[in-house]
Amino acid sequence: MKVVLIGVGQAGGKITQALAEFDYDMGFEAVQGALAVNTAQADLRELDIDTQLIGQDRVKGHGVGGDNELAAQIMEENATEVMNELDGRISTGAEAIVVTAGLGGGTGSGGAPMLARELKRIYDVPVYVLGVLPGRDEGGIYQANAGRSLKTCVREADSLLLVDNDAWKASEDSLSAGFDRINDAIAQRFGLLFASGEAVDGVGESVVDSSEIINTLRSGGIASIGYASAPAAEDPGENVNVITSVTRNALLTSMSLPDAIDADSGLLVVAGRPDRISRKGVERARKWLEEETGSLEVRGGDFPIDSGKVASLVLLGGVERSNRVDEFMERATAAREGMAETTDPLEGFESDDLDDLM
Ligand code: GDP
Repeated sequence: MKVVLIGVGQAGGKITQALAEFDYDMGFEAVQGALAVNTAQADLRELDIDTQLIGQDRVKGHGVGGDNELAAQIMEENATEVMNELDGRISTGAEAIVVTAGLGGGTGSGGAPMLARELKRIYDVPVYVLGVLPGRDEGGIYQANAGRSLKTCVREADSLLLVDNDAWKASEDSLSAGFDRINDAIAQRFGLLFASGEAVDGVGESVVDSSEIINTLRSGGIASIGYASAPAAEDPGENVNVITSVTRNALLTSMSLPDAIDADSGLLVVAGRPDRISRKGVERARKWLEEETGSLEVRGGDFPIDSGKVASLVLLGGVERSNRVDEFMERATAAREGMAETTDPLEGFESDDLDDLM
């Protein structure tokens, strides 16, 4: 699936760069363009991809702090400029646009749903938001901002691809090492997903194509992704169990939104050397996914790739009815109520789009 990536805010820019680098290093060429947009000049200076500073007239390159309402306004005023920057690449062959942001900050939290809305007005291709949820130990403003942003992204984007910052970090990591690890994991998983719809070697009916990714995400709401791999045997018959077991690991231990298994739809992509992938294994794993997720719409296919391993990538669409999301929304609502009783850092900014973040 050919994608154009737009990162909004600090986390958005870093993750977009990680995705672009992964795609480049692997030689996939699924990423057609990558742009980082921010209100804070200092965050853009650290990136190697194309960058665009917005809102200088309002915040003079210093960022919006945690004010996601101001960020939504600034994005609304600058959306045309942002879209012009990528227009050529979007109109020549992109099959989806992916707007990436940390939902708990300011610029990305408010800017990403607003940009998704504006992009959808102009382009026919699906617009996804790849959003990062704050970890449990982050402060109240992050939780509250993320709650409002999440709700708005679900409404404005064709699907919100959600990554929980608590999902993939290791306990020994410092904050920045933890972010790097999560960003690499995001780049690998989504990078493989985008590239899987691009595979041309070993073309056959079983190879995943872009429309299967788009159809899996068609129900909207929240989507999540998981991945696991193991060494492959040379004889495909011996890989039946390897494929079912990596699929189980992907779903049960590695989803970007943990404990959210009930889904409207699913896609299983099995990556590996075509002569080692067992059809029986893929079909068995796909059926198992249908049972576990309660979805009758689980697609399955291959991603031919030259590797000594076999890997399962699991994409679930429509996972928003999970306890995990309820629990997060409760955390976000409590944080917002707590903030309203003390000083509300969002107060005092007039915004036409206040409602948009609700
Ligand atoms: P913004 O620049 O105002 O949009 O704010 P940030 O992008 O810094 O958003 C803050 C939120 O994103 C917090 O919840 C952080 O935990 C998260 N965050 C910041 N940087 C990173 C990063 O590099 N990776 C990940 N996964 N999350 C990040």
